[in-house]
Amino acid sequence: MNHPILNFSIPRTKGTYILVLSLTERQTIAVGKLGSLTFPPGNYLYVGSAFGAGGLAARLRHHLKPSKLHWHIDYLRAVAQLEAIWFSEDGQRSECQWSTILYNLPPLSCLQRGFGSSDCNCVAHLYYCATEEGLAVVNQTLQQMGMNGVGRLGISSPD
Ligand SMILES: [Zn+2]
Repeated sequence: MNHPILNFSIPRTKGTYILVLSLTERQTIAVGKLGSLTFPPGNYLYVGSAFGAGGLAARLRHHLKPSKLHWHIDYLRAVAQLEAIWFSEDGQRSECQWSTILYNLPPLSCLQRGFGSSDCNCVAHLYYCATEEGLAVVNQTLQQMGMNGVGRLGISSPD
């Protein structure tokens, strides 16, 4: 598999990450206990954290090549393209903080309430961005927050 993101060496440190996924067509899929959900075409940002063994490297390897459907995101990942990954290595559990930041970014909206947020009080950990222009704004914000980006970010990404 020659995925561009695989060429990047992801650290084994613990941290928080955002997956940028894209759908070219509307998809209706069953997402675990959430049941049947419809996803319009566009970009999706999912916030997660990796605090298990192997840290970010192990978790992101799972998202690159999901072997079984475990988390809500795995169901969407199975039908979507993984375009980019943002991550921080600060060792802080900041996924809910990041989720709140995304929730408040004007280009983003929450279409699937409860997605990825079964264990916290967030509206969701998945946000939708309809346009490439909106995604560029989001990318710029994440870069300004000091996050590392890899993949197709629509901005110059650090190598
Ligand atoms: Zn949360």
